[in-house]
Amino acid sequence: MAGVACAAALRQAGLDVEVFEKSRGLGGRIATRRRDAGSFDHGAQYVTARGTRFESLLRRLGEAGAVTEWQPQGRQIPHPPSHGLDQTWFIGTPGMSAMVKPLAEGLRIHRGTRIAALEKPNGRWCLRTVDGQTVEAFDAVAVTVPAPQASPLLAAHGTAFARIERAAMAPCWAAMMTFDAPIAGADDVLRPAAGPIAWAARNSAKPGRNGGGPEAWVIHVGPAWSRAHLEDEARSVARDLLQAFGEVLGRTPPQPGHLSAHRWRYALCETPLQTPCLIGDDGTLGAAGDWCLGARVEAAYDSGWALEPGWPRASGAHSGSRGRNQQAFETLQVLRLEYDLHPVAGKPRNAEFDRLAVAVDVYGFRHQDGPGLGHVQQACLLAVRHPGRHLG
Ligand SMILES: Cc1cc2nc3c(=O)[nH]c(=O)nc-3n(C[C@H](O)[C@H](O)[C@H](O)COP(=O)(O)OP(=O)(O)OC[C@H]3O[C@@H](n4cnc5c(N)ncnc54)[C@H](O)[C@@H]3O)c2cc1C
Repeated sequence: MAGVACAAALRQAGLDVEVFEKSRGLGGRIATRRRDAGSFDHGAQYVTARGTRFESLLRRLGEAGAVTEWQPQGRQIPHPPSHGLDQTWFIGTPGMSAMVKPLAEGLRIHRGTRIAALEKPNGRWCLRTVDGQTVEAFDAVAVTVPAPQASPLLAAHGTAFARIERAAMAPCWAAMMTFDAPIAGADDVLRPAAGPIAWAARNSAKPGRNGGGPEAWVIHVGPAWSRAHLEDEARSVARDLLQAFGEVLGRTPPQPGHLSAHRWRYALCETPLQTPCLIGDDGTLGAAGDWCLGARVEAAYDSGWALEPGWPRASGAHSGSRGRNQQAFETLQVLRLEYDLHPVAGKPRNAEFDRLAVAVDVYGFRHQDGPGLGHVQQACLLAVRHPGRHLG
């Protein structure tokens, strides 16, 4: 999500973008596995929107038929209900991964291409693939892979990336199973308080799934059990989780038609960096992902999007100033995210905030007490007083 969010935003800004994805499919941890027995959302289960930017994306995806609401039977709605979409569960249709596709439309994507190293031999970036190919030459590179996979790619390219090491990520084993007969008497979503299972969902009850097919369940295991069994064989994990599912149900489940397990080695970010994205010293290398802001799809989207404004300037007029302005740049992105959560009354986004980006960068605006609405307004004033500066 962070990758396509960033790429789509860059393309909208008029840049020529290419995306390299190691898998055949798109979506990363927003994933759907299709088998003869049915389909399984074995990664992210649903998304919510706390900020207006992701909220408006979900509305657009809803209009395009790529997401819909999910109201599973048995879900406890938190009280008091909020005004926004943060308590509405959205899912991709016909599978979770479908929500990424509209974002990727029109992008040049090289699938099945795993990047092993980044090099900058003659002032421009080259990508080295795992099978030894070199792809050249790029003005800037955004790395949007999970933190432990980003670290080796970025370690040699400046101190700005050293703190990626602090973004701890937990694994998660996922089991997928189908049953010919419905599991009677169980809610669509189960979150047991004890035992290895953290989450079990009747996938086939999500809107748009498995029309008439067998009942499909997806089960996620908590970090402690997943860590303890990280290197176990998928088949034996699947069997263990079927048994654990029986313990949750309080009876032996029927014989599954399909039973498999998938290991997410880097599933959920336990300690996000609390910064929207990272930019290297010369401004031509950046990193984004959920590990910047939190273990949620919205965080990944926000992080990828936050990286975008740095690039046109990074590779153009502002080249060389990025190191000095790193802190200001991060401040800006915090402000941008903050603004989405608490819009300033009467101030439309977009152009205003593009100017804000420039204002923060040019005037080295820094927050003293952490991001807050007052700072957003102050930066807006700066932006309004100096509209269009450095925007070319
Ligand atoms: C089991 C599970 C359940 C979850 N449940 C929820 C949920 O219910 N709600 C929610 O909001 N979030 C949930 N999350 C978290 C959410 O899925 C992630 O926060 C979000 O999808 C992360 O997006 P990302 O773009 O940062 O990273 P990713 O989705 O991991 O994308 C990184 C991409 O980089 C590719 N890649 C990696 N290395 C390379 C390389 N060297 N070269 C080329 N490509 C590479 C990967 O194939 C992948 O496509 C869940 C995650 C998991 C695993």
